[in-house]
Amino acid sequence: LFIAFEGGDGVGKTTQVELLSKHLRAHGRDVVVTREPGGSRIGKEVRSILLDGGDLDARAEALLFAADRADHVASLIRPALNRGAVVVTDRYTDSSIAYQGVGRELGVEQVAALSEFATLGLKPDLTIVLDLDADERRRRMESLGRYDRIEREPDHVHARIRRAFLDLAAAEPERYVIVDASRPVEQIAAAVAQAVERVN
Ligand code: C5P
Ligand code: MG
Repeated sequence: LFIAFEGGDGVGKTTQVELLSKHLRAHGRDVVVTREPGGSRIGKEVRSILLDGGDLDARAEALLFAADRADHVASLIRPALNRGAVVVTDRYTDSSIAYQGVGRELGVEQVAALSEFATLGLKPDLTIVLDLDADERRRRMESLGRYDRIEREPDHVHARIRRAFLDLAAAEPERYVIVDASRPVEQIAAAVAQAVERVN
């Protein structure tokens, strides 16, 4: 079982990944928790290039995210799924479509094709999109004091990124669930657990 969490920065993905994995482990499941970029050993090096703050050409950036994803799938996700584990990842292909494809305007189809190549077509059984409006997102990011190179993008870019995640979910409703991330943490966790129950 392969589950991905997607959504903009500051929507609470990391918290929900942790809560879901605790929930699944309490039910006796073998759970591998991971993230992108930086889920694998090589990926950690790629992540440090991506987040180092320097100017990075949009295509080079997209290829680095794809390289991270290829190594992540080959070295960690695929082997874990093969032994029957549940894999829960904090970001996957949809983040590239939203940030590089839409945010950086490289095009949804081209970036999707890059991910298809990188992953050999591996898609999550369930993708959970945590959705939050721009004002609330900015408040959270500021209170977290977290603004790396990409997170500093202006609100209108983040609005497009948010829309991209929602469009991906709308195109494949059987593989996606959209969860309102403005609700209390425990309520979000309950909605997530329910969605996972349905695909389990
Ligand atoms: O989720 P996390 O904060 O670890 O992601 C690191 C940064 O990389 C974030 O600012 C996120 O917006 C960005 N990112 C991106 N494209 C991706 C994945 C993450 O621009 N495909
Ligand atoms: Mg972040």
